[in-house]
Amino acid sequence: MRPKLNTMNLHEYQGKDLLKSFGVEIQEGIVATTVEEAVAAAKQLKTDVTVIKAQIHAGGRGKGGGVKIAKNEADVREHAGNILGMMLKTPQTPGGLEGPGKLVSKILVAEDAYIGKFEDNKEYYVSILMDRGRKQNVIIYSTEGGMDIEKVAEETPELVHKEYIDPMLGIQSFQLRKVAFNLGLSGVAMKAMSKFIAKLYKAFVQSDSSMFEINPCLHTSDDRIVAVDCKVSLDDNALFRHADLAELRDTSEEDATEVEARSYGLNFVNLDGNVGCMVNGAGLAMATMDIIKLSGGEPANFLDVGGTADAARVEQAFRIILRDPAVKAILINIFGGIVRCDRVAQGVVDAYKNIGDIKVPIIVRLQGTNADIAKTIIDESGLEVHSATLLQEAADLVKKVIG
Ligand code: GDP
Ligand code: MN
Repeated sequence: MRPKLNTMNLHEYQGKDLLKSFGVEIQEGIVATTVEEAVAAAKQLKTDVTVIKAQIHAGGRGKGGGVKIAKNEADVREHAGNILGMMLKTPQTPGGLEGPGKLVSKILVAEDAYIGKFEDNKEYYVSILMDRGRKQNVIIYSTEGGMDIEKVAEETPELVHKEYIDPMLGIQSFQLRKVAFNLGLSGVAMKAMSKFIAKLYKAFVQSDSSMFEINPCLHTSDDRIVAVDCKVSLDDNALFRHADLAELRDTSEEDATEVEARSYGLNFVNLDGNVGCMVNGAGLAMATMDIIKLSGGEPANFLDVGGTADAARVEQAFRIILRDPAVKAILINIFGGIVRCDRVAQGVVDAYKNIGDIKVPIIVRLQGTNADIAKTIIDESGLEVHSATLLQEAADLVKKVIG
């Protein structure tokens, strides 16, 4: 599964372009948006058999009918026609197989990467991500690649290996050999796997990615190692260093509210709970979410309004939080360091009046410069806004209002 906070996900074809630019061998393909383009693409590729793959930001496409083998032009027409425009349901699309699915507007027409008989090629699993606890990157890999890695991890965890990499030293050649060895490789295939992992790791670090998942990572019957599928999640906070990658964002794949929030400069992530929160600073936002949990609620969102927290932003943030029908209360927790608390308080009161008809109770905890003036503004506003000075007070108020 992909990480959710501060990441930007790529489509398979975009991820493969990135890997290829670092010399990683990939299953080659051409993107198409119409049946005619798909037919033209299939003619351009080197293999007679091609694979038609739905491009959506969710895995498990094969299981949902989003990956099909085409043996000839008629097959290409049939599968491209069926997949383009379909609402593809996979275990990873919102709501799973019971949900509405995701609209497919692009397909990747790819070369058949499997040489000779399907069974003579081996599907491995390789992913790279950051282990925050260890402060190291980790390569997770297994001989049991293909479509059911989650099941493998659950039932036979001994078949899933991990290799931690010291960020100061980078990946060492003995580690490359160990990965290849644990995958049961020797000779030419061992060398190919070592090279594959070395390039993959370089791509991961240099693109500031937070996750790579190559499944299947194919060991072909002619001893090459090929990325047949790839999921790439980039670190949002590093995108300023990668203008070319930042351009690959596909907002149609993202949560509409999150996209809108970003356009206002708000760092917002939708969650499943009942208490909306509005906070300045990511650290304080995390602490506030903890407080909400401690008081028996569940955060409905993560929202960092940023350092300025001016009235206009507060109002936009309010509107976004209020749109979620599950929200039973809103906790505003602002530390006035650069921004003055009285200005934020006035912003809250103004926004409240501008929006009008707010039915959920609001708890405001303002701490820092002019906090006392801010409290008076809130208390004298006559609105259903409760003020608190201490975090614990705020938590108790949340508990009271959500019952
Ligand atoms: P996912 O279902 O979203 O993970 O999509 P994948 O790209 O991993 O493809 C799913 C499955 O389709 C793979 O596990 C393979 O079994 C099969 N597949 C993908 N590419 C090829 C190919 O080039 N040739 C053949 N024969 N099968 C393929
Ligand atoms: Mn896959």
